Amino acid sequence: MDLIGFIGLGKMGRPMAANLCRKGARLAVYDVNPEPVRELAEMGADVPESVADLAARSDVVFTMLPDSPIVEHVVAGADGVLAHMRRGGVVVDMSTVDPRVTDRLGAAAKEKGIGFADAPVGRLASHADRGESLFMVGADDDVFARVKPLLESMGTTIHHCGAIGTGTRTKLINNFLVIVSCEMNAEAIALSQRFGLSLEKTLEVIHGTTATNGQLKMAWATKVFTGDIVPGFTIDLAHKDLSLIVEAANAAKVSVPVAGVAREAYSSARAQGHGSKDFSAMVDVACELGAITKPRFAGRE
Ligand code: NAD
Repeated sequence: MDLIGFIGLGKMGRPMAANLCRKGARLAVYDVNPEPVRELAEMGADVPESVADLAARSDVVFTMLPDSPIVEHVVAGADGVLAHMRRGGVVVDMSTVDPRVTDRLGAAAKEKGIGFADAPVGRLASHADRGESLFMVGADDDVFARVKPLLESMGTTIHHCGAIGTGTRTKLINNFLVIVSCEMNAEAIALSQRFGLSLEKTLEVIHGTTATNGQLKMAWATKVFTGDIVPGFTIDLAHKDLSLIVEAANAAKVSVPVAGVAREAYSSARAQGHGSKDFSAMVDVACELGAITKPRFAGRE
């Protein structure tokens, strides 16, 4: 049976690795934070001492890391995955990164006879907990066929978007809409609070028209409106993704003024010290700015 290496056991990676373990995969895990490593070891995962050691032993390596520089360092650095993995292995990066980094990693892997897939993840951390993630995969057909059963242990919906790099690019389009929706929702709901409208009735109206969106309907209903702003997906990561989106659009000579303005709203939230909160808390930031009561469902104030 293949040995699966898993690097990055944060809000997303920890439950995803746990799901692989529960479904019978032979797993080796690595994270700079020892706490989730201990948790996975208790479930039966091997615990190599370094990325190099993990890569040398693994047939397939998944990475679920915060950002582009960290992914590039862990995968393609001097002591990284590609430097130590055997020919014929496969690297699957599930992080949300700059598409140019994905392209570089794909080319570097090919040069070493190692397969590569970008497989960023849609949906929320709570879906990852339940093994209900969605994957958007960029990979050659043979690599896709090899990793699909593993992705099915972590998610319910697997899209093959095309060649290497198409998964990451699809993810940026997805997150453009998600993260900008969040800022729009924050401004609109802060205004409705200032007007003194009932939150429940306002949502009932919105959800019956084309004004609604997935963030407002599915995510906020279980997060900020219940008083839960434990991330989830942080304001810091939302800012990172919008920055990737603005940069990638600019590089492609596509103008994205709304993304640029929204990015600065997240910038401002981070400057005020809110970066580690769930990104649904953007509405609390908007309310604090106007000394407005934060929107909470009745009984959750
Ligand atoms: P996180 O910050 O919770 O987890 C990242 C993990 O990587 C942490 O455990 C950290 O200790 C570890 N790490 C950092 N540097 C490392 C290194 N050099 N070597 C080994 N481990 C290292 O982040 P997350 O929320 O799990 O997100 C991971 C990625 O997935 C990001 O790119 C994010 O944009 C994307 N994503 C997140 C969500 C979400 O809802 N949280 C959803 C979809 C995609």
